[in-house]
Order: sequence, then C-alpha cells, then structure tokens
Amino acid sequence: MATAFDYPSPARSGSTAQAAGLNMIPTEPIGSLPRPATLIEAVERGDAEDARLDQLYDAAIRDTIQRFEATGSPVITDGEQRKYHNFWTYCVHGLSNTAPDGFKIPFAAGHTRRMPRLTAGPFRYKRYADSYLEVAKRYATVPIKQAVISPSALSLMYPVEGIPDYSRGEFIDDLLAEHELEIRRCFDKGAHKVQIDFTEGRLAMKVDPSGELLHSFIDLNNLALSRFSREERQRIGVHTCPGGDRDSTHSADVDYSELLPSLFQLRVGNFYIALAGETDRARVLKTIRQYMQPDHRVFVGVVAPIDPHVETAEEVRDRILEAAEYIPVAQLGTTDDCGFSPFSDDTSTTRDTAFAKIRARVQGTALASKALGTV
Ligand SMILES: [Zn+2]
Repeated sequence: MATAFDYPSPARSGSTAQAAGLNMIPTEPIGSLPRPATLIEAVERGDAEDARLDQLYDAAIRDTIQRFEATGSPVITDGEQRKYHNFWTYCVHGLSNTAPDGFKIPFAAGHTRRMPRLTAGPFRYKRYADSYLEVAKRYATVPIKQAVISPSALSLMYPVEGIPDYSRGEFIDDLLAEHELEIRRCFDKGAHKVQIDFTEGRLAMKVDPSGELLHSFIDLNNLALSRFSREERQRIGVHTCPGGDRDSTHSADVDYSELLPSLFQLRVGNFYIALAGETDRARVLKTIRQYMQPDHRVFVGVVAPIDPHVETAEEVRDRILEAAEYIPVAQLGTTDDCGFSPFSDDTSTTRDTAFAKIRARVQGTALASKALGTV
C-alpha cells in the first residue's frame, strides 16, 4: 500500500525542479474549510462580531493554516474561517442600509440561501477581505491567496423596483469602486493571487436561459477588471462552480457549454473551474480547449468537496493526465472543485475529510507532474 513517503514532496521536488528550469504543475485551493464545531456553536449562541469570539476565530485560523501547510499545498488560504456568514455577503453583512429579504439561491437539496437587499445609498462595504489576509499572514509560511466576491453577485442586492434618490447607475459606480479597492488592498497586503468568486455565472443560465443575465454579469465584471493592468490581471482569477452547500448544488444541471464561452471572455489570467464532479469531463475539457486563450491558466478541479469519497492521489493524477490531453501543460493548474464550506454553518464535510482531499490534490498533482515530465 502506498504511503505518504512514496510521493515527491512538492516543496523539495519544486526547488530541485526550479534549479533545472522545471516546475510542478501549480495547485491552489478555492478558499473555504469547515469551521471547528466549537466556533460554529459559539457563533450560533451570539453575535459573530462579539469580541469574545475573537479568540475562537484566531484559534480556528491558526489551526487551519497549520493543517493546510501540513498537506504540502504550496499555496493556502485561511479557510475563510472568519467570512461570516459566507463567501457571498461577508463584505456587506451587518450594513444598516439593508433588509434581509433579497435574492434567493435555491439548492437542489431543497433549501435556499438568501442575500440582503439594499434599501438606500450609498453602497459601501462594511469590511474588505484583506482584513482576513492580514491575520492569516501572521501564521502562514507559504503564499496565501485571497478570494473576494464578484461585482455581479453583489449587483443582485439592488432591488428591481429601484431605490429613491439612488439610481442603479450610481449603485454600479459605487460597487465597482468598492470591488477595485478590495482587490488592491489584497494585493497591498501581499496576496499571492486574488480569486473572484463567480458561482452565480452558471446559476445565471438557469435563472435566464436566454443568456442575457450571464452576459450582463460578464460585462459588469469586465468593467471592474478593466481598471487593472495586464500584469495585475495575471494575478487575478475567477472561480466557477455549480455551487456547493450541504453537499448540494444550485446549477449542476446547466450545461457547461452554455457558460464557458462567455466565462473565457472575462479579463483575468486564471480560471478555477469545477470539473471533478462533472459527469462528462472529456466534453467539458473539449469546450475549455476551444475557448481558452494563450495567456490563460486553467486550474481544473480534481477533488469534489460535496462527494464524501476521499479521492486517492492516483485518482487525482489520472484526472490531471486526462486534462493534459486537452490543455497545454504550461497552462494547466489544479484546484478543488469548490470551497469545502462556502457557508459558515455548513457541517456536511468534516475538517478531516477536507484536509484529506486537499492532501490528495497536492500528492496527485506531484504524481502527474512527474508523469508529464514537468519535474
Ligand atoms: Zn465554488
């Protein structure tokens, strides 16, 4: 039976390979990890911003980073331990100019998640994701990436009926400024990459099969991205997935070929695409090959957070070798299909399972790199 010692250490083989001008296939997480039960219980009992919770948050972040680094992942996150309640509304949670009855995301399992509705202008974030990065940097010894929410997701906060004295145009101006500021703050704090979470891309095709909503999302996000230089955009990425909450999806039934041609129009250098959970991976890979551009790096999902089965390193390796038949190795990367717990109270996956899957991703990527001759 294989043991951890059978796999090349990414750190060791990476440095040897770099000396020879070769590199491991890049591998990065998406973002979230399940929160410790003690933290979830404490948050449920009171206000998540309560200063007494600081110690629990801090312990969760420290433990997450230690365990993350122990997987050998060359790039890590803070597991979004402090993104309260979720990846979507962390920056606006608690704003006084909102009401709780906003846009609803329906999941296949039957439950919904709801976002706040804006009731008055001006629109400002309550907090920026670089505040999480700042804490994570205290504990990490390897590069940290930071995920932020897309302008298109937050645009759903503006009500269809409008807001008196605050036009949609004014809202969009404020939204784009806040998003740009958040990304720049993350870069200033030393983020390895900034990943824009765009789960609503695939969902948009379900809500509006005409494609109009998706195109408006792409245009809006490109307006924000056009504020960055080409070099900066090579450090920005976008994540797409069919959703992942309580082991359930919101748009897995939407054909990727409805989304990917538009997705690759986004002006970013990196694409983090859920793939492991797809029923026909070869077909998706063919579409990726058709629409990706020469300056893109495509990180394909090689482990599925909503599948309880822990992938083996060999399974991951084989998925990467399959992807390499369609994507040039120099443009290939690997990732998780999604965060392991995008909503903070989701306990459908344990921390142990999440880290075991991350370890499989890292070890499988090392095996594939060896098989493909990149190390
Ligand atoms: Zn996702």
